[in-house]
Amino acid sequence: MYQRDTITAIATPAGMGGIGIIKISGPDALHTVAPLFRCPLFNPASAKARHLYYGTIIDPQDSHILDEVLVSYMQAPHTYTCEDVVEINCHSGFVILQKILELVLQNGARLAEPGEFTKRAFLNGRIDLTQAEAVIDIIEAKTEAGLKIASRQLHGALSEKFVLLHDALIEIIAYIEAAIDFPEDELEIYDSRDAQQQLSGIITEMEKLSATYQEGRLYRLGVNTIIVGKPNVGKSSILNALLGETRALVTPFPGTTRDCIQETISIQGIPIVIQDTAGLHEGQDEIDKMGMDLTRCRLSQAELVLLVIDGSQRLDDRDRAIIDEIKGRNVITIINKADLPQQFTVENARSLRLTDNVVLISALHNQGLDHLKELMYQTVLRFPHDSAAEILITNARQKNALDRTLAALHTARNAASEGLSPELIAIDLHAALQALGEITGTTSTEDILDRIFDTFCIGK
Ligand code: GDP
Repeated sequence: MYQRDTITAIATPAGMGGIGIIKISGPDALHTVAPLFRCPLFNPASAKARHLYYGTIIDPQDSHILDEVLVSYMQAPHTYTCEDVVEINCHSGFVILQKILELVLQNGARLAEPGEFTKRAFLNGRIDLTQAEAVIDIIEAKTEAGLKIASRQLHGALSEKFVLLHDALIEIIAYIEAAIDFPEDELEIYDSRDAQQQLSGIITEMEKLSATYQEGRLYRLGVNTIIVGKPNVGKSSILNALLGETRALVTPFPGTTRDCIQETISIQGIPIVIQDTAGLHEGQDEIDKMGMDLTRCRLSQAELVLLVIDGSQRLDDRDRAIIDEIKGRNVITIINKADLPQQFTVENARSLRLTDNVVLISALHNQGLDHLKELMYQTVLRFPHDSAAEILITNARQKNALDRTLAALHTARNAASEGLSPELIAIDLHAALQALGEITGTTSTEDILDRIFDTFCIGK
């Protein structure tokens, strides 16, 4: 439910910094701030919108000055929430931000729930649900390409697509319902082949959109990738080389990485979340064993496995044991240490019949890394094309609702092809409309909204 009270939260991340912002939204925004704010030019009754007021925040109990601040006022409805919004720009420290927040709360504001500012923007009709979800995607974007997709979504590219699909569906429903409303004219109005054709048109459009999720989710969530190989083959060196900086500890002693290190690199805009692991060798101590368990657990979740083999050595039983563990997975075999005399070749790797994706590199000398990156890109993105020009579904909730819409439309089309009555077809079409409306939020329940906005941070 939309409570029309005044809410507040710290909008900037916790910690020390130049500036911290406390945001207040609601009908009493100005009045909750006025008793704390000392500024000769500021009067809550005549405050100018889009002005910055310079002054001090005081503790009203003893008029003690707490901080030097800038306060801005933005007047409803032209604000993020469509309500009156006041922002206090103070210094960013945990104590000062908490103290000012406390005073604002004492003056009648309520602490905002996670995502409540954005939820109000949605409930006040400024944005739809796909745009609200884009806000969080912008905050969490892992690469520039992901940011671009989220930003397009925030500006309504996806919403427009759904409005078009919604209108097309409404048109079909109107056509079918005309036959129900005027049964005596049904034969003239309604033609089952015509209905099937109209349904096929919208189904094709939606199927195309639904298929973009395969790629869209990669840009948003990234590809869960793991590096495996026996100790000392160069796993950490490869991660460092891919990152272009030193992150994993490289030593000539086997088994140095005993925990899992995780880093994200961008390959042509796709975030590749790589875990360097403790390897899969049988360890000596309890910590080694815990490292192995963690590796196996991460391995089971990985979408892409980078198997590293030391090309300067013959394949041994430890390599073979790892190969056995990753059979059937999406694997790229990396033969490392190409700078040394080779004992294990690309042909040897191919003959293992583990994967055709084999690359020879030298992590130490930064050789072959571009080839490796290209192979990773091709392996995760089986159907590469120009995403920049397209609208992509990146969100599982939207994909799920779209697929339920499609399922209902398929049932409707089957009903039409079997010559069932328009009444029966209309039931499926309304189910499709309901599911489609969930995407933009026209038919969302409170429960759906809670689930979406609960994933936001406080202050957004
Ligand atoms: P890990 O245990 O598999 O993570 O292996 P490391 O990355 O810690 O490397 C083990 C040793 O191999 C270190 O001494 C590295 O410098 C060395 N190494 C890694 N990559 C190469 C390479 O391409 N060529 C050569 N000659 N040595 C390498």
